Amino acid sequence: MKIYEQEELEKELLDLLSDCSRCKMCVGVCPTFEGWYRQSAVGRLMALYYHLKYGIGGEKEISDLLFSCTNCRKCQARCKRMSVGTKSVDIFIKARTLLVRRCTES
Ligand code: SF4
Ligand code: SF4
Repeated sequence: MKIYEQEELEKELLDLLSDCSRCKMCVGVCPTFEGWYRQSAVGRLMALYYHLKYGIGGEKEISDLLFSCTNCRKCQARCKRMSVGTKSVDIFIKARTLLVRRCTES
């Protein structure tokens, strides 16, 4: 993936991430949730947003968060906002692709 393609994907992800209203309705249904927001869809979405927008969080940390999602999509069934547009899991999958490409092509 060329640099400009990575930048385009980052922009696309930031647009998609702005659809989340952070209502936290998805937290309780996530099978990986053990008390920390980061173990839920909204936590993953917010961590990814701040990483892409402000460079907060290392790539390993963000990668661990994204790859710990089981893709069960239970969060999407509870989401009134994102279920009408791009699904959160689709965002995670796109972001995983970006992180893998960054890692293998740098
Ligand atoms: S339910 Fe949807 S809009 Fe609400 S925090 Fe979760 S992903 Fe964001
Ligand atoms: S798809 Fe991922 S973030 Fe959503 S509920 Fe399942 S494990 Fe949690």
